[in-house]
Amino acid sequence: MSQTALQLAYLASAVLFILGLRNLSSPRTAPTGNLLAAIGMLVAVVATLVSQGVVGWPVILAGVVVGGSIGAVLALRIEMTAMPQMVALLNGFGGAASALVASAELLDGMRAGIAPAGIVPTAIVLSTLIGAVTLTGSLIAFAKLQELMRGAPIVYPGQRFVNALLGLGAIGLCVAVALSPLELPPYAALVGLGLLLGVLLVIPIGGADMPVVISLLNSYSGLAACATGFVLGNSGLVISGSLVGASGIILTKIMCDAMNRSLGNVLFGAFGAVAEIGPGAAGEQRSVTGYTPEDAAVIFNASRTCIVVPGYGMAVAQAQHAVRELMDLLEARGVKVQFAIHPVAGRMPGHMNVLLAEADVPYDKLVEMDDINPQFPETDVSLVLGANDVVNPAARSDTSSPIYGMPILDVDRAQHVFVIKRSMNPGFAGIDNPLFYNDNTKMVFGDAKGTVLKITEALRST
Ligand code: NDP
Repeated sequence: MSQTALQLAYLASAVLFILGLRNLSSPRTAPTGNLLAAIGMLVAVVATLVSQGVVGWPVILAGVVVGGSIGAVLALRIEMTAMPQMVALLNGFGGAASALVASAELLDGMRAGIAPAGIVPTAIVLSTLIGAVTLTGSLIAFAKLQELMRGAPIVYPGQRFVNALLGLGAIGLCVAVALSPLELPPYAALVGLGLLLGVLLVIPIGGADMPVVISLLNSYSGLAACATGFVLGNSGLVISGSLVGASGIILTKIMCDAMNRSLGNVLFGAFGAVAEIGPGAAGEQRSVTGYTPEDAAVIFNASRTCIVVPGYGMAVAQAQHAVRELMDLLEARGVKVQFAIHPVAGRMPGHMNVLLAEADVPYDKLVEMDDINPQFPETDVSLVLGANDVVNPAARSDTSSPIYGMPILDVDRAQHVFVIKRSMNPGFAGIDNPLFYNDNTKMVFGDAKGTVLKITEALRST
């Protein structure tokens, strides 16, 4: 394969990656985006292998079949709620691959006694350090989400100082290796320190913050791949690594903004350790109004407009199909039904979109926060389905609230608010929700799926 053909193949795959990312920005076009990016990766991998001339077509095809089968089985078997841990593992493997390739290049040079020149030593140390941090950081994120280890932040006195010191040590080792790339001991120390740092940086972060960390580690795996691209002089890897690095950091920023938290607060704030404040914690007793599903059905029967606000509880209860059934029934009776999507509802980006798409709720019924908020005052019923923090009005008005400033869905401005959840327990942020005590709020206690099914049944018989 000529150099020109190889570079053209890389260019084609870069275009496919960019088109893929572009399509991933909407749930409607996301499957096409995924497919385009996957074809781009196939083109890049096959072009690289063919140009190297080391393996023939049978081996390439065998690799595609074996790798593709493992990927397909994993993707088909994984529960939607376990998607973040799968992404964590894949990020970790990506980081490990980059670090291994960089190490192989350096060790080859050591064996031949030829020191890498130009930008290569710098690229090798960056690929090794970032790849090693990504590997162990992702494994810890996986273990926390899979509940193989405690999800709560693991903190100890002087932790940040220790981490800062180790970080400085790692930078020092990077400089040492880049200056004398034929010495094995500093390189081995760099690998060890990178692996240790990955563990130490992620253990103080609470399990529920892991999706943000995973998005950041995804960005790291891209940066490591980009550095490896410079080690190998492979422009395809440089481009794809940069795209992953940039999109990962953009997603991280979007998630932090939607929670009104800085990245520093997510990484160092030990947020999962926030003390739970139950209702009446301040000595004040407030009462809530409880409704049965049958009571709720009466109000639904008289309504013309309804906005459903799904949250983490809908995912836990797998209530998406039940709510779709309720939507169908309401629409058949002339009620306008829409779904309000908060950017961080649930526990991963796009969590609600994916679940509702699985239940065949049409995309045009899913409305983003900024577009739906002005509609609440004219809405008869807002149905809060297992959501809590994303509808907490304290974020608007209570300057002492940990979530003050977080953009929320203005459900309290609707005429009637139904909140379906099992108890008065708080959500992810561990704080009470004044919405539950409002005069226009009715709590319908129970599992999201079972309760929605009961409302639908009651509505059918009215
Ligand atoms: P929350 O975590 O605030 O609340 C979920 C509520 O669901 C709980 O109060 C719980 O109450 C209820 N619930 C749980 N199981 C069920 C069930 N089976 N049936 C009915 N209700 C149930 O969820 P939100 O979606 O409102 O907010 C998401 C939170 O997660 C935000 O704080 C966000 O910052 C955070 N986060 C989101 C990320 C993302 O990418 N989406 C990433 C990281 C964090 P009860 O136990 O009483 O039933």
